[in-house]
Amino acid sequence: MTTMLVKQATLETGFRYENGRVVATETAVRDVFVRDGKVEKIGESLTETADTVIDAGKNLLMPPMREMHIHVDKTYFSGPWKACIPITNGILTRIEEEEKLLPKQLPFALQRAEKMIEWLLSQGHTHIRSHCNVDPQIGTKHIELTLEAFSKFEGKLTYEVVAFPQHGLLRSNSEKLMREAMRKGATLVGGVDPATIDRDIERSLETTMDIAVEAGKGLDIHIHDGDSLGAFEFTKLAELAMQAGKTGQTTISHAIALGDLQGAELERMTTILRDAKIDVTSTIPINRPTIPVQYLQQHGVNVSLGHDSLTDHWSPYGTGDTIEKLSVLAERFRFMDEYSLNRTWQYATGGITPLDDTGNQVWPKEGDKADFLLIDAVCSAQAVARRKPITTVVFRGAVVSGNGEVKSDEQKGAGQHD
Ligand SMILES: [Zn+2]
Repeated sequence: MTTMLVKQATLETGFRYENGRVVATETAVRDVFVRDGKVEKIGESLTETADTVIDAGKNLLMPPMREMHIHVDKTYFSGPWKACIPITNGILTRIEEEEKLLPKQLPFALQRAEKMIEWLLSQGHTHIRSHCNVDPQIGTKHIELTLEAFSKFEGKLTYEVVAFPQHGLLRSNSEKLMREAMRKGATLVGGVDPATIDRDIERSLETTMDIAVEAGKGLDIHIHDGDSLGAFEFTKLAELAMQAGKTGQTTISHAIALGDLQGAELERMTTILRDAKIDVTSTIPINRPTIPVQYLQQHGVNVSLGHDSLTDHWSPYGTGDTIEKLSVLAERFRFMDEYSLNRTWQYATGGITPLDDTGNQVWPKEGDKADFLLIDAVCSAQAVARRKPITTVVFRGAVVSGNGEVKSDEQKGAGQHD
């Protein structure tokens, strides 16, 4: 039996309205007592004795984040600086590059994966979904090393591993390897651009679905194909997901085409995705059309966020900082008011927020898992807009990153004026 007492944490308790509009977030300073990984009691000046006592110093208590699209198995992170080579043959440039690069990186891939997971945890992610190469050069070695890397973080976070035929399920003839990867412990079946890479949309998606059915697992497929081509692929995937009973277990990563569709076409596609309970993960790209995040969420298609890369042969720009990503999302869609900024947190957490849409406090409640972040911010709207730092990460009632010794600082007062 382990216990933790968090003293003096700021909780969001409601919205303040003026003339029918939200103008501020109401907060209260509270103590939170945790037993055996669950919130047992929330109150003022709790006196329970605990194994661990954290002085939150009025830091904001928020739900932790999920990194829903990353590749921990192929990264330059923690290695020497290296920029990307120029693209000369579209996405195939990178695939051809990987055939030589990944075998070369194998001796230190495990160590880099661990460094990356550690960094993502420090950035407040207590759940990570990593895609993991399955291809003729690497075989299932990356599945093994990714599972090994995550096993070192047992008790600190939860994770999912997507078997990812990056070089094309059909193109690289990786079907057998994919089935083997699922037997070795991958938790989701991946895929990539059935048109651009595999050149056979139906057979590619059908084979992917077959593997998922055989393994009894869900799917998460990279689809970068744009506009009507991407839309055709989404429709086909939705049909197959419905037929195979994979509704609610299918994700489209990137879903770039949703950033291209407009008006009635976007409405039609949103309905198809919603009915098949297909969710979408985005990196919130700013160098190509961004998918309409808020529209999708409001029309029943859940949107999650992922960094995809920190630094690797695909991109040198990733930070692993989801508060920054929320800020980019908010700025991209011109969220400037308290309410819009407050609501962005849902994209980082799978929908968990302290307040519901109308301002009722819904988290944390007694009995909830004791997973939370302490952030040096006065409210989540400020945390997002001003990109405020995470000071402590708690998972199941234990400090898993940060030292838990947050000092009350004078900037808190300054923050009140923002
Ligand atoms: Zn990816």
